[in-house]
Amino acid sequence: HDPKFIRNFSIVAHIDHGKSTLADQLLLQSGAISQREFREQLLDDMDLERERGITIKARAVSIHYTLDGQTFELNLIDTPGHVDFHYEVSRSLAACEGAILLVDATQGVQAQTVANAYLAIAGDLALVPALNKIDMQAARPEEIKEEIFNTLGLDPDEILAVSGKTGAGVPELFRALIDRIPPPSGDVQAPLRALIFDSKYDDYQGVVVYVRVVDGTIRVGQKIRLMAMEREYEVIGLGQFRPREVPVQELGVGQVGFVVANIKQLSDVRVGDTITDAHTPAASALPGYQEPRQVVYCGLFPATHNQFEDLRTALQKLALNDSSFTFEPETSDALGFGFRCGFLGMLHMEIVQQRLERESDLSLVQTAPNVTYEIITRKGETLHVSNPTRIPDAGEIEEFREPYARVNFLVPSDNIGAIMALCEERRGDYIKTDYITPTRVIVTYELPLAEMIYDLYDKLKSATRGFGTMDYELLGYRPNNLVRLDVLVAGDRVDALSIVVHRDFAERRGRKLVKKLKEEIDRHQFEVAIQAAIGSKVIARETISALRKNVTAKCYGGDITRKRKLLEKQKEGKKRMKQVGNVEISQEAFLSVLEAG
Ligand code: GDP
Ligand code: MG
Repeated sequence: HDPKFIRNFSIVAHIDHGKSTLADQLLLQSGAISQREFREQLLDDMDLERERGITIKARAVSIHYTLDGQTFELNLIDTPGHVDFHYEVSRSLAACEGAILLVDATQGVQAQTVANAYLAIAGDLALVPALNKIDMQAARPEEIKEEIFNTLGLDPDEILAVSGKTGAGVPELFRALIDRIPPPSGDVQAPLRALIFDSKYDDYQGVVVYVRVVDGTIRVGQKIRLMAMEREYEVIGLGQFRPREVPVQELGVGQVGFVVANIKQLSDVRVGDTITDAHTPAASALPGYQEPRQVVYCGLFPATHNQFEDLRTALQKLALNDSSFTFEPETSDALGFGFRCGFLGMLHMEIVQQRLERESDLSLVQTAPNVTYEIITRKGETLHVSNPTRIPDAGEIEEFREPYARVNFLVPSDNIGAIMALCEERRGDYIKTDYITPTRVIVTYELPLAEMIYDLYDKLKSATRGFGTMDYELLGYRPNNLVRLDVLVAGDRVDALSIVVHRDFAERRGRKLVKKLKEEIDRHQFEVAIQAAIGSKVIARETISALRKNVTAKCYGGDITRKRKLLEKQKEGKKRMKQVGNVEISQEAFLSVLEAG
């Protein structure tokens, strides 16, 4: 395994630009899979992924390719393309020396093309730019090369042209990978250091750890130590995906593969940790990665009574394969026992929820999603609060901070006005506009994360007739004039309905919210007051009059946005009525705060 003949790389691309298809084409042309298997998209093996056309979990395959009589081991480390999964992209890239930057020749540069290219550049990787889908009539190779030059400064003469579908240009791509990406440069003699870049839970083998060996050699039977976690195990099995699992006896410098070591808990393994030899450990660990950061939280409660333990079991099971979402028990006066869950983003939240319902047969009630707030109290403590119910009363707060993100919108220049309007109404701060061609621009804003999480993506799509794309990076917390808005039904505060709003918008939000709740709550035998309040000050009020006749059904209009979908999904579930005081509140009402945004 001379590292001279190894290349480790990823494919970075915007969603749907053809990463999975190209990966399969590489396997096909190297002889690792047959024409029939090629059609079955080997790398995406989760149902949900295939349906959504995105790769959620990073994976690695070893491709053996012979060029000019010499066989090379090309390790392709797959990365997800969606904005929510930035951290998975960076951790996969850390195991590589290079990346194919793949751009759909009919679509051109998109927001995630730029974002992922920057991640690769930041990681010091050699970029191999390639236009994809050149078999298509609508391909515009020259124009797109110019876009790549204008956004990323890459030499148009070095941009390859391929088709993942037909295989055209792929031999040239193999040659470019071998020529342009440097071989791994570890120390063969040094004590073992292997980087953990991914892990998954397997019912039979326990935790399977994906590694990239940096120095030394890992062998079957070796006693290893996970440096950060300070745990020791014996290597039971090693292997590579080619793309089928092939067992090996050892993995040397630069090689990528998987380790089975009888590890029982996914939480024993930290992605970014270093594996070393237990007897002759390395002096220092490899630089780790960023921890996954949860940015969106919501409460999940079982729709049926007594399913709390089932929900816990389902969450624990899911956590075995996705260590990037968090959950902890939460008690709500209104909804009972449930969990507060944290996600990497809105898409991640949807995926986890769908998997929970699909894999466990549970029907769930979800509260409106929110971000984490940072609060400096009068006593000088710093709190991070991811549940609006837990926000202290205004009198105890010295400074109220919320997370911000820098958002890049890549849109047709005709839509600049619409994007700016969208951001201005969401408290955005304008940063700049960059033209990448006379007709396409990158508009940059800084926005409170709370204003982005529900439906910004859907709004962008409708404002640009589908042509706009966006990407964001988190910036940290900034102080704002924020308040906790409470809802009182028949005089009782309903904890699961509390939200955080900017004071300037509090009255408008409050009025919309109580109006919406009035529609969602059925009439009773008596009059029910619904109030929105900041502290003890009531800022909006509606009254549901006592029952006389049937309430007319509410009409919905407008586009199908993400929040709309959430609401509809809730409706599919069994209608859960919750007694709050002597008033019955339906589960739909708990999401009405989304409608009142
Ligand atoms: P990913 O999201 O980047 O993994 O993209 P996929 O590989 O799933 O491809 C997205 C869509 O583009 C699929 O419908 C593919 O069949 C199609 N596609 C991918 N590569 C090509 C290509 O080279 N030519 C054509 N015509 N279609 C392609
Ligand atoms: Mg894919």
